[in-house]
Amino acid sequence: MILNNEQRKIIEDSIRSIPDFPKKGIVFKDITTLLNNKDAYSVLMTHLKDRYKDYNLDYIAGIDARGFIFGAALAQMLELGFVPIRKKGKLPFTTYNEKYALEYGVDEIEVHIDAFGEKKGARVLMIDDLIATGGTANAAAKLIEHTGAVCVEACFIIGLSFLDGIKNLKEKTDVYCLIEES
Ligand code: AMP
Repeated sequence: MILNNEQRKIIEDSIRSIPDFPKKGIVFKDITTLLNNKDAYSVLMTHLKDRYKDYNLDYIAGIDARGFIFGAALAQMLELGFVPIRKKGKLPFTTYNEKYALEYGVDEIEVHIDAFGEKKGARVLMIDDLIATGGTANAAAKLIEHTGAVCVEACFIIGLSFLDGIKNLKEKTDVYCLIEES
């Protein structure tokens, strides 16, 4: 199930584009204007619930930090557990870690080793607000694999399809972007 044109327009119109943030040349997609718009937020979350209710999922994994907002709300709607995939140094228990390349330097994300339960093969939906180069999402998919769980799909509100992130991530898992910018 994908968005119909009316739903897509409501969500698209609610997202604000800020040129040259956080630095020159980047157009930042600001989802705070989606979140404070009750109609757009409701259309979005109802769509995600309808799409994923029959995926037979066990957990929703949200990527630090905006993936937490959508992921935690969706997990509750689907009566599933929520797992945060966090930036390095925030999780208190033993973790798996993955480094990934940024434009300058590297970053690192981590997940608790027992986050998806003791039974192997838990079915996980990964979610974040946006996929650009795909570095973050790729590292998150590897973390889910390390735990023995299965990333059934990676979901993003916005996909920047002029970059290779979506294409590369599709080698690992199914990818669903509600809105694609080409
Ligand atoms: P990437 O690893 O390059 O796919 O970047 C994805 C992460 O960076 C996501 O967690 C996004 O929230 C954030 N991000 C990257 N580019 C943008 C952008 N143009 N607007 C808003 N967030 C972005």
